[in-house]
Amino acid sequence: MRFACFDPAENDETGCDCSFCGDPSQNGPVVPRRSALAGIGAAFAALTFAPSIAEAAPARLPATRGLSFVNVNTNESWNGVYWRDGKIDDAAGKAIARILRDHRTGAHARVNVPLLDALWRVSNRLDADEPWRILSAYRTVRSQNQIRRVEKTAARRSMHTLGRAVDVTMFGRSPNAIAAVARREKFGGIGNYGKRGFVHLDTGPYRTWRR
Ligand SMILES: [Zn+2]
Repeated sequence: MRFACFDPAENDETGCDCSFCGDPSQNGPVVPRRSALAGIGAAFAALTFAPSIAEAAPARLPATRGLSFVNVNTNESWNGVYWRDGKIDDAAGKAIARILRDHRTGAHARVNVPLLDALWRVSNRLDADEPWRILSAYRTVRSQNQIRRVEKTAARRSMHTLGRAVDVTMFGRSPNAIAAVARREKFGGIGNYGKRGFVHLDTGPYRTWRR
């Protein structure tokens, strides 16, 4: 696979805004459910939705994991345990899906456990007590298209439209610090938007970029 979201300085590719782009096989319409994925490459399907419990809970993660969020668009907050007894807590999953919803439309996405685990891993590495401040998480395709009309570099396909990306900040932690820790964890996409004061994290293939 080839992706065009790399940090130009590191990979000599053209950067893009919070996006999962560049692989032509992934430029089709967003498919909201696992059952509709048959026409998309198996590798993408395996990456995208509803991970198995084994995939979602690597052995090195603790059996019980919690997170804390504030959505800066809605001022809603949540903190608690999202993973226990080998599965996501149902009530927590619903609450998190609500916190991470598309604030423009109110639409929710299915909560993506690897994304929660990524946030857990970074906050654990940061030894942070502060909540994640959510600037943007799930976006409908319509919302993504609205963003593209303003930000021309935003991609047509974005991990945000799959519920697999967040744009975050944290009090007391710079974007550089958050991105550096995320790179050490080596998961997914890590976009350091330091000038705009946030970091994009997603659960696609590992890649980094800076804006
Ligand atoms: Zn983003």
